[in-house]
Amino acid sequence: MLYRTVPKTGDKLSVLGFGYMRLPKKEAGGIDEDRAIRQLRYAIDHGVNYVDTAPIYHFGKSELILGRALDDGYREKVRLATKLPPWSVFSRADMDRILAEQLEKLGTDHIDYYLLHSLGKESWDKLLRLGALEFLDMAKKDGRITNAGFSFHSNTDTFKEIIDAYNWDFCQIQFNYLDEHNQAGIVGLEYAASKKIAVMVMEPLRGGNLAGHVPDDVQKCFDAAPVKRSAAEWGLRWVWNHPGVTVVLSGMNEEAHIEENLRVAETALPDSLTEADLAVLEQARQTYRRLMKVDCTGCRYCMPCPAGVNIPECFAFYNNTAFFPHNRENRMLYIIRLGGIIGDVPSYAGLCKHCGKCERICPQHIPIQQRLKEVSETLEGRGMGARRFVMKGVMGGALRLQNILGKIKRMFSPRNKAP
Ligand code: SF4
Ligand code: SF4
Repeated sequence: MLYRTVPKTGDKLSVLGFGYMRLPKKEAGGIDEDRAIRQLRYAIDHGVNYVDTAPIYHFGKSELILGRALDDGYREKVRLATKLPPWSVFSRADMDRILAEQLEKLGTDHIDYYLLHSLGKESWDKLLRLGALEFLDMAKKDGRITNAGFSFHSNTDTFKEIIDAYNWDFCQIQFNYLDEHNQAGIVGLEYAASKKIAVMVMEPLRGGNLAGHVPDDVQKCFDAAPVKRSAAEWGLRWVWNHPGVTVVLSGMNEEAHIEENLRVAETALPDSLTEADLAVLEQARQTYRRLMKVDCTGCRYCMPCPAGVNIPECFAFYNNTAFFPHNRENRMLYIIRLGGIIGDVPSYAGLCKHCGKCERICPQHIPIQQRLKEVSETLEGRGMGARRFVMKGVMGGALRLQNILGKIKRMFSPRNKAP
């Protein structure tokens, strides 16, 4: 395992981090907890020392299972990362309450890497107003957290604004060879690195889409390459090739994926890809571009939209339906993220008010209004407003229920019994 250093603290983190977001399922349904625990411990035994979770993952179950996985001495072997969900925060007191619940669920007295979750402009402004920075200062001072950071899914300008607003230790961004210019993008990565802020990368394989069943034409690019690597290995090596990247988080829930990622992480040095390697990846990227339903480069010249539509993100989700037709999560993620269920205000395609401003600016001359209509028909269908309302209620209820069940479970857990 290779390790990279957090610039401000000197902390040595494994280049491969374990994302506890997509846990293995039993055939009959439900999370296979024992397998999830075995998998994480195996990765730790083979050098992984960074594990990341959040209250929203599996409606709060991820933190509970991770707490169990880190029993038996494993807590001391890892840096633990979890997140404050802005959508559950309505006061300064909520922040302390949520962190206290997380410490209890995770069975620890401190979180090594604590993040404000999935920030965008609105959620950032809200947390600032409610005193999140004072909360982070206080939690660092009294030892409940060690490093303060944030995860991010919005645009580069907002990313820079947040980076400049606080003495962050680290941040977490989506970054992969298809999203080089989306969200924070390469500009954001290099900006954070220039400020000595560690960058953890999520979605290095776009939720697994850049591995496994890649489109045939993309697979042909990899098959023709002089070096034989799987699609996953190509994708991961591209991310690790960037010196500004500290940890790459992979949501590993298959033993074979863990083995492969551990193997690749042995040699994934910065700037280790050759010109020939980069040419193969460029070919794969251009092939994806040809398959695109909308040839949006993610330049964001059309933003902001006065109606709040996140135009490039709408097109990124729409293009996913062509790249990865087998992926059933894409529509759900679209509704969760652009529907404003978590993270930020709604920004889905159906909000377009047809002012035409974006089309006058787009350098690709995309008929944006027509394309957004297609996005809306494909990914939203009828009743988007009602669906958002129901999902928000269901997610809020599920999280509350998990908290109650977690409390009951912990009361009877061996950790809480007198020796
Ligand atoms: S046409 Fe629609 S998407 Fe474009 S700027 Fe106007 S409201 Fe926004
Ligand atoms: S201006 Fe055009 S190419 Fe650029 S992000 Fe907007 S839609 Fe995409």
